[in-house]
Amino acid sequence: MVLFRSDQRQNADSNANRDDDFMRRALALVQAEPKSVGAPIGCVIVLNGKIVGEGTNEVACQHDPTAHAEIVAIRRATQSLEAQELRGATLYSTLQPCGMCTMASIWAKIGRIVCGAERGQVHRMYFEDRHLDTLDFIADAYRADLSIKGGVLGSECAALYYGADDIVPIEEQGNI
Ligand SMILES: [Zn+2]
Repeated sequence: MVLFRSDQRQNADSNANRDDDFMRRALALVQAEPKSVGAPIGCVIVLNGKIVGEGTNEVACQHDPTAHAEIVAIRRATQSLEAQELRGATLYSTLQPCGMCTMASIWAKIGRIVCGAERGQVHRMYFEDRHLDTLDFIADAYRADLSIKGGVLGSECAALYYGADDIVPIEEQGNI
């Protein structure tokens, strides 16, 4: 379990049981998808105990390389709230968000990121940088109110992905 800087704001969603519940919802989103969508990632955004946005990987169906599950969920949440930021919200993702989605979360003013599988549990193709861990973006962000927690339903989430040493078919390789 990874926990970064939860110092100042403890929002109402920080209960571990609720984390499990919302991660289960993110997992269910992935499990409802056909296998052909690409990297199977589910994302749920929660504000004041309610889901305000959900997403799965829409890169292929939208012909949009930025349509990662987290970006899709952020867009749906801001549109449903008619807001341009998600201050105090928690983003749940079945996999530790990539650099793009971590940065988008920072720009969206999300307060808390909760992920299932962590970077060390999965194949490197899910991330874009050899050395820079997205956790470092968060640790180094100007935001003092942003925290990240990993390993929520970690084994169930990790089972969705290629492992660190798996051989990935070339047509499925994400970022290599
Ligand atoms: Zn991403």
